[in-house]
Amino acid sequence: MRPTSHIGHAVAELKDLVASARSGIAFTGAGISTQSGIPDFRSPGGLWSRNRPIDFQDFVRSREMRLEAWRRKFALDDATAGAQPNIAHFALVELMRRGHLAHVITQNIDGLHQASGVPEDRLIELHGNGTYAACLACRTRYGLDWVRQEIATTGEAPHCPACGGLVKSGTISFGQPMPQEAMRRAEAAINGCDLFLALGSSLVVQPAALMPLMAKRRGAALVIINREPTEFDEIADIAIRGELGEILGEIVNVG
Ligand code: NAD
Repeated sequence: MRPTSHIGHAVAELKDLVASARSGIAFTGAGISTQSGIPDFRSPGGLWSRNRPIDFQDFVRSREMRLEAWRRKFALDDATAGAQPNIAHFALVELMRRGHLAHVITQNIDGLHQASGVPEDRLIELHGNGTYAACLACRTRYGLDWVRQEIATTGEAPHCPACGGLVKSGTISFGQPMPQEAMRRAEAAINGCDLFLALGSSLVVQPAALMPLMAKRRGAALVIINREPTEFDEIADIAIRGELGEILGEIVNVG
């Protein structure tokens, strides 16, 4: 690992590494969206310190938990309404345009990579997407406004009008099976990547957090950029502790 105190050197080295990449992956966590005003999970004051997430089994089992899950989701949606991609999101689009990045694999559910211009076939969402709801049984999608309306009029979390299944936000909760297609696409992308940028993730949520290790084992250069240390810094080729907007902004401006 490079000494993180010499950020200037590490960023210069990162520029060279990025410039030579042809099939890079940006693996993003909640930290890439904090500069868009969306709180992450584990930073001080982040969502984790306020509310432990509701487990999938509790959502399925309990009417009260379903209502609580929707209450929390809509409170957060209201607080972050209008959030826009920031310089770090746009920098990744630019690196794609220049041919250095092939895919973005994200743990985020906020839709900001799409909003910044990452095409759907280059984007892999490991934890789903919070901008819609879906039936857990038949997968029919519903708009969030419809869910709000149902809760306001019936006082109950909605069931699917098509099949009667439970309707849940389109995200993957703790305890919920990972989406198979997204996992398959992620593994295929990692198999062919020459650079793996882990950006703004504490790298503790499994199985997503195993991906940097997979990439490294398959011969990709591993770069970690995060405000705080992660347990994978030691095996990274470059680990930089800093702000993503600043660092990625510098990479694309001079690169
Ligand atoms: P995390 O909260 O565990 O880790 C985020 C990391 O990003 C922290 O280590 C923090 O130090 C760092 N960070 C924050 N702002 C940064 C910045 N500007 N520059 C550099 N580093 C910064 O998030 P995670 O690892 O993604 O895991 C959390 C889970 O929560 C994910 O599964 C995700 O689905 C979900 N989540 C998503 C969002 C979102 O979609 N925006 C927000 C909160 C939580």
